[in-house]
Amino acid sequence: MKCYVCAKEGVSSDAVAVCTVCGMGTCMKHTIRKEVDVWEGGYPFPSRKLPKKMPRMFCPDCAGAYKGEL
Ligand SMILES: [Zn+2]
Ligand SMILES: [Zn+2]
Repeated sequence: MKCYVCAKEGVSSDAVAVCTVCGMGTCMKHTIRKEVDVWEGGYPFPSRKLPKKMPRMFCPDCAGAYKGEL
C-alpha cells in the first residue's frame, strides 16, 4: 500500500501504518500515533475507564478531528 497523503502530493512512499478511523495508508512521516483511553462495560453496568491506554494510529486528517478529545 502507498501513503495516501504523499500520493495526493504526487510523491510515492510506502505505507507503514493504516489509519484506525478511515483506513487510509500512511507513511512514517504522516502517521500520528496517539494513546487512547480504553472503556469497558455496557448494560447494565456503567462503562468505566480502564487504567491502560491503547495506542492507535491516525492519519493527519483524523488526528486533527480528534484533537482536544484525546
Ligand atoms: Zn506520507
Ligand atoms: Zn484517517
